[in-house]
Amino acid sequence: MMPLKTFYHLLCPQLFLRSVFDLPVSQLKDRGIRGLIFDLDNTLLYWNSCEVTGDARKLFRQLEHEGFLSCLVSNNKKTRVESVAQVLNLPAISKARKPSRRAFRQALATLGTSAKETAVVGDQLFTDVLGGNRMGLYTVLVKPLSKTEFIGTRLMRYIERIALRQLIKRGLIEKPALEKAGRAKLC
Ligand SMILES: [Mg+2]
Repeated sequence: MMPLKTFYHLLCPQLFLRSVFDLPVSQLKDRGIRGLIFDLDNTLLYWNSCEVTGDARKLFRQLEHEGFLSCLVSNNKKTRVESVAQVLNLPAISKARKPSRRAFRQALATLGTSAKETAVVGDQLFTDVLGGNRMGLYTVLVKPLSKTEFIGTRLMRYIERIALRQLIKRGLIEKPALEKAGRAKLC
């Protein structure tokens, strides 16, 4: 079994953001990042909404203009993920079973980038961040867009709060960084 210490390290995001729209493009470029893997629900879109906002479209136009390659990786079903991917003109992997590494490997192959050159952006510690860290990606945790979620996710949020508190206690993440990203109430 994996030592607890290693597990906690795998839960640490490298960056906390209030939203995907705050992605620090030049900072990512400086780190050599050129591939971006995005979670869908509560990161780019409200949970179970298929409405792609103008802001989301603009974000991907800008990222493309800046030379980034993007891909969606979601645990949600194929029809939903593909309808969004089509609107945004992005490759997508559905039913990803994050934090499993399989879908991340698939995404890297699609993007044609190495793990070191790729960041994952998502709203969940135990799927997006854990999966991304297991793969050696740069991990970015964003504040969930809304509190409306799948019931299983709501339970995970509770466990997530406990984990975040542990990460702070162990000095693995900094509370001010979380607060700055609008997660003060979570910890
Ligand atoms: Mg999500």
